[in-house]
Amino acid sequence: MKIDRVNLFPVQVRRETGLVSRHAIVRLESDGGVVGWGEMSDFGHLPAFVPDLDDLTETLGRVLVGRDPRQLNARAAELLAWFPEARYYYDMGSVIRAGADIALHDLVARHHGIPLAELLGGPVRDRVPICYPIFRLTGVDQVEDNLARVRRRVGEGFDRFRLYVGRSLDADLAFLSAFTAEFGDRARVKAFDFSHLLPWKDAWRWTERLLEVVEPEMIESPAPQLDYEGLRSFRERVKLPVSEHGFSVRQVSDMLRHGSIDLLNICLTFIGGISPARELYALARCHHVGTLVGTTQELSIGTAAQAHLAAAMPHLTHPGDPTGPALYQEDVVEHRVAYEAGCVVLPPGPGLGVEPSPELLKELASPLSSSASSPQQTLDRVLER
Ligand code: MG
Ligand code: MG
Repeated sequence: MKIDRVNLFPVQVRRETGLVSRHAIVRLESDGGVVGWGEMSDFGHLPAFVPDLDDLTETLGRVLVGRDPRQLNARAAELLAWFPEARYYYDMGSVIRAGADIALHDLVARHHGIPLAELLGGPVRDRVPICYPIFRLTGVDQVEDNLARVRRRVGEGFDRFRLYVGRSLDADLAFLSAFTAEFGDRARVKAFDFSHLLPWKDAWRWTERLLEVVEPEMIESPAPQLDYEGLRSFRERVKLPVSEHGFSVRQVSDMLRHGSIDLLNICLTFIGGISPARELYALARCHHVGTLVGTTQELSIGTAAQAHLAAAMPHLTHPGDPTGPALYQEDVVEHRVAYEAGCVVLPPGPGLGVEPSPELLKELASPLSSSASSPQQTLDRVLER
């Protein structure tokens, strides 16, 4: 079997918060006519530049066309050589590799007529607990809207919420107090997510105040990127587990060596696909560190890939984050990945178990362009206020 053709489809999709995210859907076709799909998820992060998709299609053609997709390890090594790790959280090379690697896995699983999780050694679970995100509040005037969002999502069965914190202490405190008063017995706070916003001492003082209101299951990214010592200092002062994203194999091994984390947040987009993500699960297990499935907020193709990998990894220990198919107003598939009782459900069927529709790809088509929002809005994942 050989890869015959590579296509990329740029789309833009609105979130329930109004923010627009830009993705590129990857289509690989084999010489036997089997098709595999992948997703380069959410190009809307900092920094504000995007790849030229015609050029990228040509490059991926040179890397993949004529090669055997079943040699997944060799394909992953070549992709890494062409798009090396930048050791930066919003590394666009990782986004690109992830999209191609997911499509390769989907293609091979479909060729064999088996679900992707079976290609990865078989599922050990059929669903993964996740949390719904509440994006960063910049003022107490935003508390009511976000409580309404929680109310609606609790009604749909979501029972965990992750709060991006660190911009307005008054707003964070007001939201968490109202949240516990109204939903205390029905929903919990999975994480305070600082997303690298504050130096660790500021994050620690902030956390101390928030802990007077509610105890989350973990604290996420309470130090700037690559501040391994800062993370460890924070971790030594707070009893709750500290989690951090893995965005390069070297960065993860540095964090492990420095004793910086209790939990490793593993997201296909940030580490560059299924093959490198499997290495992170192994690293975490060796160092007695827990794991969770992170997210950039993927559409259904990217979320299905996350669900298949998470279903197949015995060393998945904590609830994760991907809720894109519930968060986005639209999707490129007719039947989105499903959520039940606070879990993302493993989609059945061959490959990823989701099928993009040509009509929806056309309807949502939009050239990749850097977003018009400011760096702060991009970082906070919120709109103009
Ligand atoms: Mg995070
Ligand atoms: Mg994102």
